[in-house]
Amino acid sequence: MLPLESVREFVLDRCPARAPQSVPVADALGLVTASEIISSEAIPQFANTAMDGFAVRSADVADAPCELRVVETIAAGHAPQVTVGPGEASRIMTGAIIPPGADAVVMVERTSLVTPSSTANPNSTAADGSASGNGAAETVRVEVSVPPGNHVRPVGDDLHAGTHVFAAGTELTAGHLGVLCSLGMTEVEVFPRLRVGVLSTGDELVDDGSPLRPGQIRDSNRRTLLALAQRVDVVPVDLGLAPDDPDEIETAITTGVQTCDVIVTSGGVSMGDFDYVKAVLDRVGDMRWMQVAIKPAKPLAFGTVGDVPVFGLPGNPVSSMVSFELFARPGLRSMMGHPDPVRPTVEATAAEALPRRADGKTHFMRVLATPADGGVEVRSAGGQGSHMLWAMAKANALAVVPDGDGVRAGGSVEVLLLD
Ligand code: AMP
Ligand code: MG
Repeated sequence: MLPLESVREFVLDRCPARAPQSVPVADALGLVTASEIISSEAIPQFANTAMDGFAVRSADVADAPCELRVVETIAAGHAPQVTVGPGEASRIMTGAIIPPGADAVVMVERTSLVTPSSTANPNSTAADGSASGNGAAETVRVEVSVPPGNHVRPVGDDLHAGTHVFAAGTELTAGHLGVLCSLGMTEVEVFPRLRVGVLSTGDELVDDGSPLRPGQIRDSNRRTLLALAQRVDVVPVDLGLAPDDPDEIETAITTGVQTCDVIVTSGGVSMGDFDYVKAVLDRVGDMRWMQVAIKPAKPLAFGTVGDVPVFGLPGNPVSSMVSFELFARPGLRSMMGHPDPVRPTVEATAAEALPRRADGKTHFMRVLATPADGGVEVRSAGGQGSHMLWAMAKANALAVVPDGDGVRAGGSVEVLLLD
């Protein structure tokens, strides 16, 4: 049996990052930047108000309460037309440009209108919706003094032109995409999204909800593996079901390779008489069949057909998920430019014993991890058989239990947090 680390290294060596491409920002969620993002402009580009209120000269309100003549109403998106002179103020809405002459904003809650305008509402813009000059002379009473710059968001308050905004190797999240849009970017240089084909193999598999004949089972792996692929921000491609027939498996894989960047199969890589996936991969590609010193997911067939990596995962439902987590996920992330393709482990406390027997393998036990005392504690999620998908579905972590007789209650254990 081979140690997990050396098998993963073998896989990662054959999953290099794909050539960077420019893609629309709209399609870039979850992708990794291939070059540094440097801001071409300041955000905000103009000094603006953080509050609805009145733009004033701070010196005018030093002895507040006081009264100022209202000379304009400025809405967001409209340029001020009037300079605020001594004894004057402009009504201003959040996000609007600070008018010339003013150096501070008094929030509307600290003011009251002395001479109501025709709209009679100090909190509203001009009745005609225009940005400036609502005609009627108004006077505002300011209750508080404010320092210069009060509620003013200066130019470049968020970031300046020329700022190194995001390093190469940044995974783009919702907030990142917003920043790119704020900077006026419509495209971004990233490692492209992979198309990942998922194929189930096995004579026993049924996927159409029809009644089962003796020995048949329903295909669960394909949906699960497609979903796991989706979670790595690739485009999942359903390659369907192939029976345990070498020619049909070969056709499915060689067809898949034409439209996919990576292929993931399940089943047919063990020691059984009808385990043809490894034989087919040997025939059409450069394949290594490995016995990894882990439980579940001991067998793995990994190879390349042309430059398309093919992961031949074991068929048992929990094994296929664990194998995806330990090998396929890091491989896919590596190809999509993630600097750290392997999920880190965290230290947790076993809230109950996690027993096992010594067998030369590292066990990945399905557990529920919960926050406790500033750390994490774990307990078994249920049945630990490699066919027991229910407990895997309920688990949110895998406890990495080294060879031996397990972890005692209260002992510490490394865990992979799955979500
Ligand atoms: P294999 O790796 O082909 O020997 O399959 C091991 C076990 O996993 C057998 O019990 C299979 O019936 C089961 N199995 C294989 N493929 C699937 C699948 N797509 N969905 C659910 N179970 C499967
Ligand atoms: Mg099989």
